[in-house]
Amino acid sequence: MTDTLHKATALVREVADMLGLERRHPHLRLVERLTTPDRVITFRMAVQRDDRSVEVFQGYRVQHLDILGPYKGGIRLHPAVDLDEVKALALWMTLKTALVDIPFGGAKGGIAVDPAALSPQELERLMRKYTIRLADDIGPNSDIPAPDMGSGAREMAWIYDEYRKSHAVARSVVTGKPVELGGSAGRREATGHGVVCVLQAAMRQLGMTSPTIAIQGFGNVGGQTARELFALGHKIVAIADARGAVGNPAGLDITALAAHQQRTGWVSGFAGGEPVADIIAVPCDVLLPCAMENAITTANADRVRARLIVEGANGPCAPDADRILAARGVFIVPDVLANAGGVIVSYFEWVQNREGFYWSLADVNTRLSERLDDAYRRVAATATQRQITMRQAAYCLAIEKIANGMVLRGVQ
Ligand code: NAD
Repeated sequence: MTDTLHKATALVREVADMLGLERRHPHLRLVERLTTPDRVITFRMAVQRDDRSVEVFQGYRVQHLDILGPYKGGIRLHPAVDLDEVKALALWMTLKTALVDIPFGGAKGGIAVDPAALSPQELERLMRKYTIRLADDIGPNSDIPAPDMGSGAREMAWIYDEYRKSHAVARSVVTGKPVELGGSAGRREATGHGVVCVLQAAMRQLGMTSPTIAIQGFGNVGGQTARELFALGHKIVAIADARGAVGNPAGLDITALAAHQQRTGWVSGFAGGEPVADIIAVPCDVLLPCAMENAITTANADRVRARLIVEGANGPCAPDADRILAARGVFIVPDVLANAGGVIVSYFEWVQNREGFYWSLADVNTRLSERLDDAYRRVAATATQRQITMRQAAYCLAIEKIANGMVLRGVQ
C-alpha cells in the first residue's frame, strides 16, 4: 500500500476509534466498509496515435462508497496515476461529499498518461475509449465523473458526447462540462473560489488581516485562487508550477504572471519576480499547496515558514508532516474542506441539468459560499469542542454522517 492510501485509511481508522464506531455498532463492519472501495475497475485501452502507431494506456475507476448517493469524483490524467492513488482519492471524495452535505458518495478515475504528450485528436480518442469502457458503470444516477488534475471542460464534453451515443439521458452523466453544453456558471472557477472562501474563514478565526501568501500550483485550482486573491488586494509573494517558482517580496502581479504563463506555458522566466528555489520554505504567513499529494513531508516540514496552510490540493501534507506542523502550531485547513468548492458546484450542475433550469453566477457563488461557510463553522466548532485538529474534526463529521447512513439503510 502506498503512503497516500495508507494515510487516507489510517486516519479514518483513528477517527472511527475516537468516535467509538465499532463499539457502538459491533456487527456492521463500518470501518472495513469505510476503508475499502465498493468496486475497483481497471482496464487497458489501445489508442491509435496520429502516426497510426498504437499505444496502450492503463485506466481506472474506483467506486468507493454510495451510501449517501451516487458515486462522484473526478478523472485524473497524469503519468504517475496508479490504483492506490485512485483509491485514496476516491475515499477522500466520500468524506468530502459527506462533510459538505451533498447527496453523493465518492469515486475517482484516472488514466496513466501525460496529456501534454498527446495531440488533441489523440487525447479525444483516449477519452472516448475511456467512456466506452465505463459506459455501463457510470451514469447520472450511479456514478458521475468530473475534471481533476490534467482534465477539464474539453475532456468532459467528449465524455458526455460519447456517452450520449448509447444513452438517452446523458447530460448529467458528467459535471464540469463547458457552459454551452450544460455546464454550470462558476464550475471552472469553483475549487479556487472555494479555497478563497475557506482561507477567508480561517483568517477571520485566526485574526489575520493582510497576510503574505505563497501558492504551489498555477493550474485550475492554484491559478484561480491566485487571480481571486490578487483581485481582492492580497499580496502573493511566490508561485510555483511543475517547472519552477517565482517570487517577489513586494507581491507578484498575477495578471501579468498569468499572461506570461499563457505565452510560455510556465511561471519561470517571469520578469516581475526572481527565481525561488523552494516554494515550501518561502517566508510567508499563508501557504496554499494547490498542486499534488505529499508536497510537504518529514523531509521539508521543518522548513515551512507559514502559520496557516489551506490545502487546495488533495493530500498535500503527508501524515508525519502533519504531526510536525501541528507541534509547531501551524494551523491546517484540510483538503476535504478546503477544495470542496469543485464538487459542490458539480452538484449544482447536476441539479441544473436535471431541472433544465440554469442559475446565474451570483446564485451559484452565493450558494457555494453558504455551504462552505457552514462546513467551516461545523469543523472549527468540532475541533474546539474535542480539542483535535481541523483534519480530525472534518473526518469526525464526515464519518459520523456516513455511519448514520449505513445504520439507517441497514444490511440485508
Ligand atoms: P492542474 O493540472 O490544472 O494544475 C496543477 C498545477 O500544479 C500546475 O500548475 C502544475 O504545473 C503544478 N505542479 C505539478 N507538479 C508540481 C510540482 N512538483 N511542484 C510544483 N507545482 C507542480 O490540476 P488542478 O485541477 O489544479 O489540481 C491540483 C490539485 O487540486 C490536485 O491535487 C487535485 O486533485 C486537486 N483538486 C482539483 C479540483 C478541480 O476541480 N480541478 C477539485 C478538487 C481538488
